[in-house]
Amino acid sequence: MNSILSAPYFHDEQAAYEFVEARIWAKGRPCPHCGVLDRSGALKGKSTRIGMYKCYECRKPFNVKVGTIFEASHLPLRLWLQAIFLIASSKKGISSNQLHRTLGINIKSAWFMSHRIREAMNDGNYGFDPLGATGGAVEVDETFIGRDFNKKPKGDKKGRGFGHKYKVVSLIDRTRGYARSIVVDDLKTKTLLPILRDNISPYAKLMTDEASQYQKLGKMFTSHGFTNHRQGQYVSPVDRYIHSNTVEGFFSIFKRGMKGVYQHCAHNHLQRYVTEFDFRYNNRKANGIEDFERAEILLRGVVGKRLTYRTTLS
Ligand SMILES: [Zn+2]
Repeated sequence: MNSILSAPYFHDEQAAYEFVEARIWAKGRPCPHCGVLDRSGALKGKSTRIGMYKCYECRKPFNVKVGTIFEASHLPLRLWLQAIFLIASSKKGISSNQLHRTLGINIKSAWFMSHRIREAMNDGNYGFDPLGATGGAVEVDETFIGRDFNKKPKGDKKGRGFGHKYKVVSLIDRTRGYARSIVVDDLKTKTLLPILRDNISPYAKLMTDEASQYQKLGKMFTSHGFTNHRQGQYVSPVDRYIHSNTVEGFFSIFKRGMKGVYQHCAHNHLQRYVTEFDFRYNNRKANGIEDFERAEILLRGVVGKRLTYRTTLS
């Protein structure tokens, strides 16, 4: 038996840098200052920090952390790798409190670390990679979660209804088994229109519930099938292809996860949590992705996502 936790890159800083460099610089080593490719050399010497290179063009030093979520972090890279592997291999995610205890880092560091790793989970495909491009079904539905304290409950006194809850819209490409979820302020047609237009191919077959917004939005696509949730109908009695069971299943995982692991979530962080559930779903075992590969995908996502204290707190 060979424990994955015994791998050298989890314990040795030099090995951790080499592991990250091999993945982030797989197609060459660009200088982050002047952009020149493969015109740099490792800095060696007793006083040199691990993983430093010097550019032969602009003469400036750099390492693999520049321009990534690791930049400006004082935590050792091997601990970052431990956190990434833990998060990538856990089915429901890991709270920052758990990271704090497992990695032996302080709670504040653990909090920033987990939010940065969540940034790396964003595949950056919003608006660029239309779902249902091969003409398959794309299910769209919304769910309500938590309590938005900026909004007063309307209607009866007990605060039923959904106006005061956070709203999440998810689009699922049934053929690819791929989800893209967005936190929205409301469910008006003008809010949903750009989301659907920018993320779903006109060739797609849209699948929704009976909500009136979708009757208008459905005209943008090849076809629009819907079921009547209010009447307890989740699969069309005339055509079993018409349903939104996939997105319903996705929401049930999302809701269980949000309840169990992330008990309290502020509005400004919700999109990152939602993105984490998308990442897990899109890179799950049923899609042929095992733990190690999922961690590598996550690691490649660290580039260009530098998250400063300021952006985290805003
Ligand atoms: Zn340079």
